[in-house]
Amino acid sequence: MTITISKEVQFDAGHRLMNHEGQCANVHGHRYRAILHCEGQLDHVGRVVDFSNLKQSWGGWIQQHWDHAFVYQTGDQLGQAIADAHRDYTTLRKQKTFELPFPPTAEYMACWLLKVAMLLLRDVPGLVPTTVELYETPTSRAIADRAAVDRVFPFPVTSPQFPESLARLLYTNPNPEVK
Ligand SMILES: [Zn+2]
Repeated sequence: MTITISKEVQFDAGHRLMNHEGQCANVHGHRYRAILHCEGQLDHVGRVVDFSNLKQSWGGWIQQHWDHAFVYQTGDQLGQAIADAHRDYTTLRKQKTFELPFPPTAEYMACWLLKVAMLLLRDVPGLVPTTVELYETPTSRAIADRAAVDRVFPFPVTSPQFPESLARLLYTNPNPEVK
């Protein structure tokens, strides 16, 4: 019997879309809601996976890397300036930033978060992360499935083409003992 479970994680993050025609080109932020859906079989306890596992591994990655961070696209000079600003202003602490190889739209960010779940949860027997919904506002969301992720990341995790920025995901699980 296959059952679908989901886990929601909320976080605050800033971004901007450098090629946007209007307001979204400005630096601004959102209260994001990310919802991960996973399929699997029931274990001897009667659960697909312990919800705390999803919270600690996938949610932990979000907290560590995206919560209160500024997420920007590679090549965005303004995003890079925020990341580097502490070098010019000695009283300014280094800002929490995250460079994405894609525009930081809800669509691409949802794909990224599903890929993160696929990486961090890959050793959980029979567990299949299937979908990530990412609400950018209470009324606007993107939904990424595995087919979308396969198009955005058209290479296996272990291949040489796998981008270094993604490979780092493998080493940044804040709870490495949680498989
Ligand atoms: Zn926005």
